[in-house]
Amino acid sequence: MAGEWRRCSRRFPCRICGKSDWCGYTGPEDDPTAALCMRVESDKPAKNGGWLHILRDDGPTWAPWKRTYHVAAKRLAPEPAALDFAKLAEAAAVVKAFVEAGR
Ligand SMILES: [Zn+2]
Repeated sequence: MAGEWRRCSRRFPCRICGKSDWCGYTGPEDDPTAALCMRVESDKPAKNGGWLHILRDDGPTWAPWKRTYHVAAKRLAPEPAALDFAKLAEAAAVVKAFVEAGR
């Protein structure tokens, strides 16, 4: 299906580096429109550490893929650092002790 991107497999290895894992591609399995190679650099670095390689120039399949990729990259992005509640409680306790000592 257009717009979807998949992991490379033994049957459909990466068009760029020829490996059967880690990399991704979009478009028909036997004629992908673009590859996301994790090993071979291009002038389009991807946020997840790989590189985008456009394999075919037919725009319509490229645009939806770009959107899908954007969503996928967002999912892969690390969560913002969680608040350290233990540290916050500790700081609050210190402040409280100061306030009480000042009375
Ligand atoms: Zn590759």
